[in-house]
Amino acid sequence: MSTAGQVIRCKAAVAWEAGKPLSIEEVEVAPPQKHEVRIKILFTSLCHTDVYYWECKGYTPLFPRILGHEASGIVESVGEGVSDLKPGDHVLPIFTGECKECRHCLSEETNNMCDLLRINCDRGVMLADGKTRFSINGKPIYHFVGTSTFSQYTVVHVGQVAKINPNAPLDKVCPISCGICTGFGATVNVARPKKGQTVAIFGLGAVGLAAAEGARVCGASRIIAVDLNPRRFEEAKKFGIKEFVNPKDYNRPVQEVIVEMTGGGVDRSVECTGSVEAMISAFECVHDGWGVCVLVGVPKIDDAFKTHPMNLLSERTLKGAFYGNYKPLTDIPMVVDKYLNKELGLDMDKFITHSVSLPDINKAFDYMLQGIGLRCLILMDA
Ligand code: NAD
Ligand code: ZN
Repeated sequence: MSTAGQVIRCKAAVAWEAGKPLSIEEVEVAPPQKHEVRIKILFTSLCHTDVYYWECKGYTPLFPRILGHEASGIVESVGEGVSDLKPGDHVLPIFTGECKECRHCLSEETNNMCDLLRINCDRGVMLADGKTRFSINGKPIYHFVGTSTFSQYTVVHVGQVAKINPNAPLDKVCPISCGICTGFGATVNVARPKKGQTVAIFGLGAVGLAAAEGARVCGASRIIAVDLNPRRFEEAKKFGIKEFVNPKDYNRPVQEVIVEMTGGGVDRSVECTGSVEAMISAFECVHDGWGVCVLVGVPKIDDAFKTHPMNLLSERTLKGAFYGNYKPLTDIPMVVDKYLNKELGLDMDKFITHSVSLPDINKAFDYMLQGIGLRCLILMDA
């Protein structure tokens, strides 16, 4: 029996307060409105960005809220004006969108800073009418980055839904919708190391290790992995990484250590920590004359990046990358096809180290906070 046009009741993990365990609730999910799609989420995984907005340290609190943005699922129904998607399509919801009409989407420069649908962590409502599609006994529950995938059904703007090859295993491709593309793209699309160059990766979560995989695929001669958590060195070894630096082991700035190790600095660095200190180190450890540093981590609200201008004058380049510079709708189906054809060079099983059922979702937060494993898959049907 079709559920199109009707309110769906399903389970969701609701964040009621900053830093408090999520609780599993029965929620009502309203039908999709104009330019919206309702998706049955089958898999979702926890990214550090969810944790920041759950902890809410410094950010504007917006609760009760359904978090989650790294996910895969199947279209259940579509709203008015949606012609590119139909029920049954396999999709990845994406935290940032592509309206295909604004000056960013139409720009010839590759970029993904869509005027309408770029990530907005403070908005908890849908664009069409400024309302939420989630409620509990009629009380609205806020959305998160337009995706809210910690629910068995969610409503997403069509510009944030990438239609993918139906042969793609939805569990394996789930982290492609955020962490993998963010890290891998930061290296292959933005840092672009040449064959034989050296690359430093700061932060060895799924984002950082995807960035390291990008360096390997580009033919880097050395990958120097930096993290404060030695557990993550064990994960990194599974990706073939051999050189590790823990800033805690030194009583001088880690950039000095890396400059010394490489006789002048690395050719490229990619920062995937969210720590402003690591961002500065990542920039200051690249070689003068040609070194390029790419920032990926989400900083704290009052952070400021400080470096001596001479570091830039001596021809180092500092860049930032958002979602690996991929256009979410145009590029992601192609990334998934490449993964399926084994052309991407990524083994998703190495990234998905844990899985839990929806009622155990808080365990995924514990793993992330302790830096245990990489991605924890949450099985939404279980
Ligand atoms: P994660 O917590 O799994 O990994 C981050 C790692 O950084 C941890 O292992 C931690 O020990 C390490 N770290 C923290 N401070 C450090 C420091 N000063 N020096 C060295 N290592 C340090 O997180 P993740 O899910 O892999 O995400 C990484 C970052 O990327 C987060 O900030 C996340 O919000 C951000 N992110 C950005 C985008 C984007 O589009 N730009 C998208 C997704 C995630
Ligand atoms: Zn993410």
